[in-house]
Amino acid sequence: MQEKRSIYNLALPALKEFFAHCGEQPYRARQVMHWLYRKRVNSFGQMTDLSAKLRDLLESRFYLRSLRPERKTGAGDSTHKFLFGLSDNNYVESVLIPASPALYGNSSDRRTICISTQVGCAYGCKFCASGLDGWKRNLTAAEIVEQLLQVEALCSEKVNNIVFMGMGEPLANFENLLSAIKIINASWGLGIGARHITVSTSGLVPRIRDLADNPIQIRLAISLHGATDAIRTEIMPINRRFNIMSLMEACAYYRAKKHQKITFEYILIDEFNDRLSEAVELAKLAKSIDAKVNLIPYNTVEGLPWRRSSEVKQNRFLAYLHKQNVDATIRREKGHAIDAACGQLRLQTMQNKSFAAAHNLR
Ligand code: SAH
Ligand code: SF4
Repeated sequence: MQEKRSIYNLALPALKEFFAHCGEQPYRARQVMHWLYRKRVNSFGQMTDLSAKLRDLLESRFYLRSLRPERKTGAGDSTHKFLFGLSDNNYVESVLIPASPALYGNSSDRRTICISTQVGCAYGCKFCASGLDGWKRNLTAAEIVEQLLQVEALCSEKVNNIVFMGMGEPLANFENLLSAIKIINASWGLGIGARHITVSTSGLVPRIRDLADNPIQIRLAISLHGATDAIRTEIMPINRRFNIMSLMEACAYYRAKKHQKITFEYILIDEFNDRLSEAVELAKLAKSIDAKVNLIPYNTVEGLPWRRSSEVKQNRFLAYLHKQNVDATIRREKGHAIDAACGQLRLQTMQNKSFAAAHNLR
């Protein structure tokens, strides 16, 4: 017997092909997509306009939900963080950030979801919780899409903005990322516009170029965090492979192909990258490719030595960028109190081997 696959891995053409291959009408595929992404059913049995025979066929070859909600933190209209168990007992996390005016957009009715693309991360940035334990595996397209479906179901909210800023390096899981984005973006899928989808990368230069060559108009954010090679290499090992100059060239290429601004993410770490001399270099880089700058006060990670810059220093840094006419904002994380930075909830859970307390949070 064939092993079952997740139905959420399939794009419309692949599902049509499946039906054709089974001697069924390909148009059935659209009906199934409607049940999955509009009606959001949890079982094939609920697809009532399909015959029992078709439902059995689907049941025999595919499964639906595979993510297990394990923990939810946050309350009211604050940031919610979700920890999901995967079928192989790994964990991923997703964050829902309601009404986030400073985060990729200026409309206050934005509900942003931050999703993960890998279990762990291989890139080992020195400040980040996601990479502390190394890389475990890529998420499938289905596991990426399901984070969205599950968070919406758990919060009874519709998300209209997506950032790939959870655990993992999205561009190191390129194929699955693109498959998931296709489903998220398609009118038969979740129907979220490409310009409301942002992919963040630590700077995989060849993949940035590949993404530039792909026609989809998603937004790109670069985790810069250092404006000189010396500083950046100290906290981001990837800078040894692709230095700032090669990264800027790839960004310029992306910008030219897509006709859209790139965002630089820059976490402010006390006494490390928050001096005025760094702001001077950052302003030069931003101006060279007309990038926006998103300053992020660092979220402390237990066990790591880095601290967040004081508000005085954050404001001084921002003021300098503004003086240089750089389009810059500070993202004042609503989620600091619940460890909203990526990888932190999973890390806590893995460190805390007793799950009893965690399950009460459900
Ligand atoms: N791997 C990708 C996407 C995931 S990280 C990337 O690095 O871009 C998403 C963002 O969160 C990145 O900008 C990352 O640098 C930032 N980040 C990681 N740890 C953080 C922390 N402790 N405080 C604030 N931002 C953090
Ligand atoms: Fe990986 Fe991004 Fe964290 Fe670096 S910042 S370790 S690339 S998730």
